[in-house]
Amino acid sequence: MNAKEVGQALTPANPNSSGATVGRRKRLPHPASEFHARRQRLAGALAAREAGALLVWAAPNVRYLSGFTGDNAALLLLPGKAVLFTDPRYAIQAAQQVSCRVKICKGPLVDGVAAAVRSLGAVRIGYDPARMTCAVFQALQSRLPMKASLDPLPAMVEELRMIKSAAELDLIRRSVELNSRAFELALARVLPGMTERDLAAEIEYRMRRLGAEKPSFETIVAGGRRSALPHAQPTAAPLRHGDLVVVDMGAFCDGYASDMTRMLFLGTPGARVKRVYRAVLEAQLAGIDAVRAGVAAFQVDAAARRVLRAYGYDRAFVHSTGHGLGLEIHEPPRLGKRDKTILQPGMAITIEPGVYLEDFGGIRIEDTVEVTATGCKILTPTSKELRVI
Ligand code: ZN
Ligand code: ZN
Repeated sequence: MNAKEVGQALTPANPNSSGATVGRRKRLPHPASEFHARRQRLAGALAAREAGALLVWAAPNVRYLSGFTGDNAALLLLPGKAVLFTDPRYAIQAAQQVSCRVKICKGPLVDGVAAAVRSLGAVRIGYDPARMTCAVFQALQSRLPMKASLDPLPAMVEELRMIKSAAELDLIRRSVELNSRAFELALARVLPGMTERDLAAEIEYRMRRLGAEKPSFETIVAGGRRSALPHAQPTAAPLRHGDLVVVDMGAFCDGYASDMTRMLFLGTPGARVKRVYRAVLEAQLAGIDAVRAGVAAFQVDAAARRVLRAYGYDRAFVHSTGHGLGLEIHEPPRLGKRDKTILQPGMAITIEPGVYLEDFGGIRIEDTVEVTATGCKILTPTSKELRVI
């Protein structure tokens, strides 16, 4: 282990420690100062929807609005105030991380939240049906006072989260760069005979040693025909000479996700591999070319799909061209056929077309980019050529 690795290995695990200077990392702003402003923006959006309160139950949304990183929490947002509900295991952590009021619930969170909601009186309380269980909804509903209502207000926080602040973009860029470094370190150890699981473990080990909290999704390593499974789980199958290998990996770094797919080939690639690779690469470049503020998400998808159609592979492209990422690995917008979201500066999205052929294997190339007024910045520094081993 060299000196740089030692320094990075000692990066504190506290997610609020992103400002810490370790090794050559420079001090970067953290969105901690932004939580209050985010709550205010959301309160404004709530007022426009004539709701008196918003009940936020999803951990990434609670984190976005308060900085709290525990996994059992709810946030009640009212005009001019917010209350975070969590349990006694998180009392110290909440006091350290959160600037709004904190209520520690000794029993189930829903009891504490229900008591607070009851005390609000006649009010329209927004909630996101995609982020609340039926059990929580029913428990709250049964305890509401007369004239109060729980009304669905989907994706209000997700809508704010689509546009990243400068501090968030810095964190995403750092996560993307860390992920690319982990890829190169793991790649240096790939040999025929290594299993898919071995390579996935090596990748995840490298991420953590470089300072990531954890992978942002289950690392995908799939060799040979199994590369045709877009979301393959690594198996004990060895990577063999002549195999095409898909590696799709991402890390959470200070809470923010990265996501990248690259292809390896063990041996000398034949004509078919080269042709499919060229088609996917051209589709990926066409997708990146189409990204610009003011363009609809589906237009980026169409640009990538058009290239694959010209090659005769459009039917083998079985997913959308990309997705937003941030505090979660998959966030809006979705760069699919039907998403009309207009791209805006500050969005962080992936561009990842792929071709999957059962009798051959699959090829996907994925970068993370930041949308700008005139185009996009490609955040992923890793070369896009097929890595021949
Ligand atoms: Zn991916
Ligand atoms: Zn992705």
